[in-house]
Amino acid sequence: NDASFDVPTRPEDYDWSEHYPELMAEWRERQAAAGAAAAAAGGAGAEGAASGAEEAPAVRFVDIGCGFGGLLIKLATHYPDTLMLGMEIRDKVTAYVRERIAALRRESPGSYRNAAVLRTNAMKYLPNFFRKGQLTKMFFLFPDPHFKAANHRRRIINTQLLTEYAHLLAPGGWLYTISDVPELGEWMKSKLDGHPLFERVSEEELERDVAAGLLALSSEEGQKVARNGGATYRNVYRRLAQPRPQ
Ligand code: SAM
Repeated sequence: NDASFDVPTRPEDYDWSEHYPELMAEWRERQAAAGAAAAAAGGAGAEGAASGAEEAPAVRFVDIGCGFGGLLIKLATHYPDTLMLGMEIRDKVTAYVRERIAALRRESPGSYRNAAVLRTNAMKYLPNFFRKGQLTKMFFLFPDPHFKAANHRRRIINTQLLTEYAHLLAPGGWLYTISDVPELGEWMKSKLDGHPLFERVSEEELERDVAAGLLALSSEEGQKVARNGGATYRNVYRRLAQPRPQ
């Protein structure tokens, strides 16, 4: 249940150093060095100069319902300078991914320090963790289909949640979806097509995008679908700066 994990009241309240210890420590060292340099230079503006020096590293990519973490691990080495977070509701699965990342960090020092996982209900708490416009990519790989019409409101892509995702995405940011369930693929496409803050990314752009190429085969669910010879339906959209006229 939700009571068993902590949720920050506001994104500013959350301490990311547990997830990205090396990157946060390096940033704090740079801050301290900048502060010391400013103090040495003297003058009233010293403090302001130090605090304005460099923003804290922030999560830019999220993998919603990351499962066993296959996509995250691929992304981590393809985008080594980007902080990314898997979000998963199942406790044991989250613990598995956490240990998997820890093991990779031990095996390859300096790599995978930009990837982390957090247990939460992503349908409820994303705005507690991220600021407006903070994210540049959101991934939804093989989300649960919730076949019954009565359960469609539990689908993780719906109009109301898309408005929330648009709020968290920077203008120009991308939202990636893939499913092996034709009906769900069509559902996600229709919700995204119908949303004024999203436009479909062209196939030519997807060809040039590393992340788009990872959707079908890097996650555990994608690999299972591929082993069984199943088709997949990929729908990727861009967050617009201004709502599209309806
Ligand atoms: N994306 C992974 C992949 O492609 O291998 C996992 C796909 S699996 C079918 C769907 C995952 O979403 C499950 O691991 C499930 O626990 C997780 N999930 C479902 N609802 C969630 C929610 N509200 N918040 C976070 N994770 C959720």
